[in-house]
Amino acid sequence: MNALQLTEVAKRYADADEVVRAVDGVSLGIEPGKTIALYGPSGSGKTTLLLLSAGLLAPDAGTVAVAGTDLASLNTNRLIDLQRKTIGFIYQSPHLLSGVPAVENAAVKLLADGRSLRSARPVACDWLERVGLAHRLRHTPEQLSGGERQRVAIARALANDPQLILADEPTGNLDSQRGRELLELLAEIARENGAAVLLATHDPRAADIADEVFALRDGKLLAGSDGAAPADLLESQQHLG
Ligand code: ADP
Ligand code: MG
Repeated sequence: MNALQLTEVAKRYADADEVVRAVDGVSLGIEPGKTIALYGPSGSGKTTLLLLSAGLLAPDAGTVAVAGTDLASLNTNRLIDLQRKTIGFIYQSPHLLSGVPAVENAAVKLLADGRSLRSARPVACDWLERVGLAHRLRHTPEQLSGGERQRVAIARALANDPQLILADEPTGNLDSQRGRELLELLAEIARENGAAVLLATHDPRAADIADEVFALRDGKLLAGSDGAAPADLLESQQHLG
């Protein structure tokens, strides 16, 4: 069973004088243990596709199934439950609780699952260590750099071992060494924990760690390839690499 299965998914945004087909008939499956990189220029629909995959947006057409469950079949409580337990979402910006130490920010999902701070703290510490923040456990977001805040958000997303990891340009705020480490960490987690990773990115290095690479243009998924990022896309995005 695929960790994520999108079938003919479509989402459009309409305002008074324009309809944008942000996601336009996308079908895509990710097996447990696999990492898929999704390349696309700004405005191609990457964030919308990830929000649909997480059930944070409802599609206009098509189905989204996570670990075999059609998200449209769930009521709100069960959807929230599935999101919390099954999905790790790494947003473009970290959205941390201000004034709260990194370790407690990283523990948020564990606490939401009913664990005590006492049992959640060592798990959160381990994840902060894995993302290179062992020396920043007690720092609040205000005391951290942008890249460090992003790494706290990554630890938070991964701390409860989600089966599906959705990452929206997660290396955007990181220097190149940290960016590479993060991509390697995501692929490693996929392999070791049997999680599936869908990685929207501009980062050409994602092609090195992904099992499959797709390009998104105007909401449409272009044919994937193994191992190599779409050459023209990379060329047009050299300045972002
Ligand atoms: P990407 O993440 O690849 O930059 P997005 O999914 O954010 O792409 O956006 C895809 C298209 O949908 C863009 O044309 C964008 O302007 C439009 N769009 C995204 N969110 C909204 C929204 N909430 N309302 C109207 N249009 C939107
Ligand atoms: Mg985006």
